[in-house]
Amino acid sequence: MKIAVMGAMPEEIAPILEKLGVYKTTEYAKNKYYEASYMGADLVIAYSKIGKVFSTLTATTLIEHFGAEILLFSGVAGAISPELRIGDLIVANKLSQHDLDITAFGHPFGYVPEGAVYINADSKMIAMSKEVAKEMGKSVKEGIIATGDQFVANEQRKNWIGDTFEADALEMEGASVAVVCDALNVPFFILRAISDAADMDAGFSFDTFLQSSAKESAEFIMKMVDKIVD
Ligand code: SAH
Repeated sequence: MKIAVMGAMPEEIAPILEKLGVYKTTEYAKNKYYEASYMGADLVIAYSKIGKVFSTLTATTLIEHFGAEILLFSGVAGAISPELRIGDLIVANKLSQHDLDITAFGHPFGYVPEGAVYINADSKMIAMSKEVAKEMGKSVKEGIIATGDQFVANEQRKNWIGDTFEADALEMEGASVAVVCDALNVPFFILRAISDAADMDAGFSFDTFLQSSAKESAEFIMKMVDKIVD
């Protein structure tokens, strides 16, 4: 089985590459892809660069060029739900694009014709994540993740996204990866560890906690991989 593990930034996949130690690097479409065998499975790992466009390109490449049959995303996010604190884990049960707006034509936010406001994630992998959390003695919240090409550092914008999409966390890649995987029929799992609260302190908080939160997420993702290949 070929498993893709992706992040958006180098910090998000660094702990995974470090754990693997040995991997083959291939340059493709102005990005680097890292391949390794792991417990009898083939892994292909990449960070896409930030945002919906780059993450779309990378997710598509992982599936169409490298032949990934399942995709796991590991990274950090801003919290909307007050229940979520720095370092806490959230797994997306569905994702939406908060900056997709053709409401002038009477459509809801996040919707374009022949698309959908929400893309559902794979329920089997979500169930598996609950087992992994239990085994690790951690808790992982299941919730809605909203994605857009904006670093949100504004309470008003954050609350609007929370109210409009019932979202618990926000970031910049999840929903675009979800659209790709859904279209190409590849089960996907999107996990984020909180780096900030998307408020006026978000930039500072992000810089402070990026590394530690990215590591939390990456460790959990590798336990998911262990369970998938088991
Ligand atoms: N500091 C970086 C930019 C980070 S952008 C630089 O200068 O290069 C934020 C990244 O973390 C995105 O990949 C996004 O998915 C996630 N993220 C974390 N907190 C976020 C927030 N408050 N708003 C949007 N994305 C956030």
